[in-house]
Amino acid sequence: MDGKWASVRVANRMTDEALAWKSEELSIKYCRRKTIGIYVSAEKGVEVRVPHFVSRQEALNFVDSKQDWIHKQLLNIAERPVRFEPTYQWGEVFYFLGEKQRFHHQALDAVDLVLPGSDQDDSDRIERRVQSWFREQALLLFNERHEHWREQMRGFELPESEVQQRSMKRRWGTCRKNGKIILNTHLARYPINCVDVVIVHELCHLLEFNHSRHFYNLMDQALPSWKEHDAMLNRLSLLY
Ligand SMILES: [Zn+2]
Repeated sequence: MDGKWASVRVANRMTDEALAWKSEELSIKYCRRKTIGIYVSAEKGVEVRVPHFVSRQEALNFVDSKQDWIHKQLLNIAERPVRFEPTYQWGEVFYFLGEKQRFHHQALDAVDLVLPGSDQDDSDRIERRVQSWFREQALLLFNERHEHWREQMRGFELPESEVQQRSMKRRWGTCRKNGKIILNTHLARYPINCVDVVIVHELCHLLEFNHSRHFYNLMDQALPSWKEHDAMLNRLSLLY
């Protein structure tokens, strides 16, 4: 192992940097890759990932050559609604079935939903209170809609099913072959059409465990307007 060579290598290595580029913050990251990549996101802005053998100037020239594309991406992000990020303070607004609810430990307003607590509660405590309220209400709602839709779909001769709720990151619902339907607790935030379309989707999976044409035929029969409701859920899922 040649120590001198190693130190020269370190001295020559490009370092990551943040710089201003045409009034935008640009960050350059050197990494193991073969080509320059430009990534535009709401969280990180414009990020340029550059192979170690490419110079800073070459990277910036590349960015300049892509400026129209970058500006288009930035505009798209600016027009997109901001995702709802709760901070769990008393008085914060949450949605339930598409209606605003303000969680508070005291009733100050007609939309206030009073939970046990006090001014001294920290956000962890408030989060636990709000979440447990949601879990309870969501399960009641999901069971009621599940019964309703089983009744509506009685001609389908569905096998037995039962509903559970769980907080999930990436999906609104899942259906197991044993008839267990798990719905995302957060689904209860959205208007009832959004809740219904997910429940009907999972009920159709009791008969068809894939997204084949037959599956969508079942959806068309059970809930002819399912596409609109799906679209509404997609649209609102960024807001609530
Ligand atoms: Zn599915």
